[in-house]
Amino acid sequence: MGMNSSGQKKSGGEKRSKEDLDRIVARARQSLDERMKGYREQSLRIHPWVCARCGREFTAKNLHLLTVHHKDHNHENNPSDGSNWENLCLYCHDNEHRRFLDYEEGAGAGESEEPSKAATHKPFAKLAELLKSDKR
Ligand SMILES: [Zn+2]
Ligand SMILES: [Zn+2]
Repeated sequence: MGMNSSGQKKSGGEKRSKEDLDRIVARARQSLDERMKGYREQSLRIHPWVCARCGREFTAKNLHLLTVHHKDHNHENNPSDGSNWENLCLYCHDNEHRRFLDYEEGAGAGESEEPSKAATHKPFAKLAELLKSDKR
């Protein structure tokens, strides 16, 4: 007590315990996980196991290399008909995001690279690196 963060006053006076917060965070994280898993599985059910860009085919054995891309780059936009999803192999998916980033940062100096930023959407960055034989 005694530490009031300015500007944020909660009326009602009920204190939120740390345990509650932890639970809320855990639940949010879990639902996010489920949502992520959910849309990937849905997309794999709707669309063929083929990279929409390079045409590489996938089987249950290497299906983990096939990722689901959001066409409008909005991960919150998950229509159940799959219209915003695209199955892309790691290479093409990485490429797609790189192009998008290039486009977005086109006005910048282009000198600074932020590895932390680049890493946010690439859980398989290392694998993608391996697949990348001819990088342009
Ligand atoms: Zn591909
Ligand atoms: Zn994507």
